[in-house]
Amino acid sequence: MTETAHSAAHVGIVGGGPSGLIMARALRAAGIEYELIERHTELGGIWDPENPGSPMYESAHFISSKYTSYFYGYPMPEHYPDYPGYRQLRDYIRAFAAEYGLYDRATLGTGVASAELVDGRWQVELTDGQRREYTHLVCANGVTWEPNLPNYRGQDTFTGELRHSSTFRFPAEFADRRVLVVGAGNSGVDIACDAALNASAAFLSVRRGYRFIPKHIFGVPLDVFINEGGELPAGITVPEDPSALIDALVGDLTRYGLPAPDHAALASHPIVNDQIIHHLNHGNITAKGDVKEFRGDTVLFADGSSEKIDLVLFATGYEYSIPYVREDLFEWSHGHPQLYLNIFNRRVDNLYALGFIEFADAALTAIIEDFTPRVIADPRVNWERNGVSHGGFFTRQSSSANWRPTPENVARLKKHLIQFLSLATGGPAKYDGKDMKGAHANMRISNPEFDAVIGDLKASLDKQQIPNKEQKELLAIVESTRPQIVTQR
Ligand SMILES: Cc1cc2nc3c(=O)[nH]c(=O)nc-3n(C[C@H](O)[C@H](O)[C@H](O)COP(=O)(O)OP(=O)(O)OC[C@H]3O[C@@H](n4cnc5c(N)ncnc54)[C@H](O)[C@@H]3O)c2cc1C
Repeated sequence: MTETAHSAAHVGIVGGGPSGLIMARALRAAGIEYELIERHTELGGIWDPENPGSPMYESAHFISSKYTSYFYGYPMPEHYPDYPGYRQLRDYIRAFAAEYGLYDRATLGTGVASAELVDGRWQVELTDGQRREYTHLVCANGVTWEPNLPNYRGQDTFTGELRHSSTFRFPAEFADRRVLVVGAGNSGVDIACDAALNASAAFLSVRRGYRFIPKHIFGVPLDVFINEGGELPAGITVPEDPSALIDALVGDLTRYGLPAPDHAALASHPIVNDQIIHHLNHGNITAKGDVKEFRGDTVLFADGSSEKIDLVLFATGYEYSIPYVREDLFEWSHGHPQLYLNIFNRRVDNLYALGFIEFADAALTAIIEDFTPRVIADPRVNWERNGVSHGGFFTRQSSSANWRPTPENVARLKKHLIQFLSLATGGPAKYDGKDMKGAHANMRISNPEFDAVIGDLKASLDKQQIPNKEQKELLAIVESTRPQIVTQR
């Protein structure tokens, strides 16, 4: 534990998108001092296309439904559709910030230029030259701000226009042009559908086999159907395996010239889109394999075919980056910061990163909302703070000195423990009455990480002199959740 952990915490949050705001709400509720710094003049993250560099485009809608992806305790408005558009999401995020008083401690219109750890405290310089000092730093600066551009042979001499998909916004940009979209992630497929309706010819280059998953199954939003099942039409049974179900509903994609899916439906981020199949069926989009090279105004593909193209949009993803913190403070692997429980820096005690993970489920709630309680539960943030009796499972030292294992105290502790563990690992439990069943899917919690959580809990139980019998019972409850929670290695 660093020096700073014992003095009053003052947390700096970088970024005013959903991650930063959820972190701010959690800290505010726990009575922990913080300041949120957002470089754009408004809150909302990527969902505000006026935020320079935002990848939003006019036709962007949620990919997860409003029923599974929302701020806990603050559902989306009744009148919103199952899959709201970006304007509705932007307004919802801002309404959330206003409701919880999060504009109060938000500094807008200036970004974090650098954050340096000096004697255990964060010395932060803002882009307008102001300086700040924080005890803890939460990096919530998003993962879609640094476009990843491929480099094909002949690309430099291509006579058409080449851009990353993050620069695309309006379908009118496609009018009277032959358009190639490279990459079939969710944005690429959405944008290819815009091209299908607006370009003079539309092509989608796909390197590997994906499944395109409809947004509703038997009239029920996909994620609700997968998590909770839906009412099936009389006489219909569906396969348990999501891949088999989707293949049965969508049919054979190789008929359209697409490669056969090469992985299970939920093994990577699912491509959720109803329109792509419609446009392939109608001949509005032509599927292509991998690009091989560019030659003049022509794109050559690996299968030997070629097309004259006016505009190429690379929907080829983004680099993860935390440019204001010295790179070696994070452990990076395959371009991703390695984080304990998906949020804690593994090298520096008072450094956190939020939202730096890919998820096959709803990012907004599952990635972000479930992770923030881990920071609050961290004794390094929450230790010996006056006025806060319980911050998750860990109690203040002063109050634990008077703790006695009465049946009420043990029952309360048991409740805290279950809640702490389920929040710490995103495991199966109720939170605010919401069933967290699917929240840990693909979260990559390993056995050693799970052991570490149990170790932390055991140490705390010892410290609080919980009798062995109760300890055993509590730890057995935790252990019983292991098969559902450990998803990796
Ligand atoms: C097309 C698309 C569709 C999506 N659909 C869904 C969906 O259906 N469901 C879902 O849950 N998620 C979805 N996502 C994921 C989406 O990224 C999350 O919903 C959410 O926006 C992530 O929030 P964030 O706060 O981590 O990042 P962001 O929204 O990127 O916010 C980060 C903020 O940090 C600010 N910032 C960056 N650097 C600095 C700095 N140095 N100083 C100060 N501020 C800084 C940025 O200006 C930005 O406001 C989608 C993403 C895309 C691109």
